[in-house]
Amino acid sequence: MVGAGNIGLIVSYQLRQAGVEIAAIVEAMPKIGGYWVHAAKIRRLGIPILLRHTIVEAVGDKVIEGAVIQELDDKFQLIGEPTKIDCDVICMAVGLTPTTELFWQAGAKMQYCPQLCGHVPFRDNTMRTSNPDIWVAGDASGIEEASAAMVEGRIAGFSAAKALGCKVKEGSFKEYWTRLDHLRAGEVGEKIRGGICQVLVDGWEA
Ligand SMILES: Cc1cc2nc3c(=O)[nH]c(=O)nc-3n(C[C@H](O)[C@H](O)[C@H](O)COP(=O)(O)OP(=O)(O)OC[C@H]3O[C@@H](n4cnc5c(N)ncnc54)[C@H](O)[C@@H]3O)c2cc1C
Repeated sequence: MVGAGNIGLIVSYQLRQAGVEIAAIVEAMPKIGGYWVHAAKIRRLGIPILLRHTIVEAVGDKVIEGAVIQELDDKFQLIGEPTKIDCDVICMAVGLTPTTELFWQAGAKMQYCPQLCGHVPFRDNTMRTSNPDIWVAGDASGIEEASAAMVEGRIAGFSAAKALGCKVKEGSFKEYWTRLDHLRAGEVGEKIRGGICQVLVDGWEA
């Protein structure tokens, strides 16, 4: 497994539960990126997490037969000797990016926002983008979690229904934003909150 963020840790754990042997998790950074609770489960299973390491070669012709890994210094330069690990799968868990091609095609106003993991559309507080026919929700609006994606989806859905002339309980928006605020509260949500304030607009000119 390449990457010790939450995805790399959780997927390794799930693969192990399904009976797959995990040779190691390699992570370029000097510390584990995911939550400690996930890393602890991995450590308890005896799976090594090799910090300051990366993959330098996938070995094999038609199928994977191994991975060559190597240590990195604090400037991410390769040091030491490469080591070959015998394996038949290499899993890359090195980050997620919002899938936004449709918003680009529709001419929605976009912004690069590292906290939300890439380019995302500007949106108002009903998740409507600068293209009045298009709303955004979930990971396309910024990489977050399923819980937030579902609430955003409801906001966007209600807003789209309202724009089509359907009756919508006005209090719903406030209720869903309160839920989002709770989900994004505290230290864990700090990055997301910082990103969202860069792409949230007061409203679109009619
Ligand atoms: C390995 C992994 C583990 C995770 N674990 C957790 C967890 O434990 N808890 C948690 O809260 N979150 C977790 N997440 C995050 C969570 O899965 C996402 O935040 C959530 O699924 C986002 O929902 P979404 O609907 O925006 O996107 P997705 O769930 O990715 O759904 C998007 C859908 O759109 C489809 N699609 C894409 N392009 C098109 C197109 N052009 N036309 C039609 N369909 C298209 C895709 O096929 C996909 O089905 C995890 C993510 C990963 C990758």
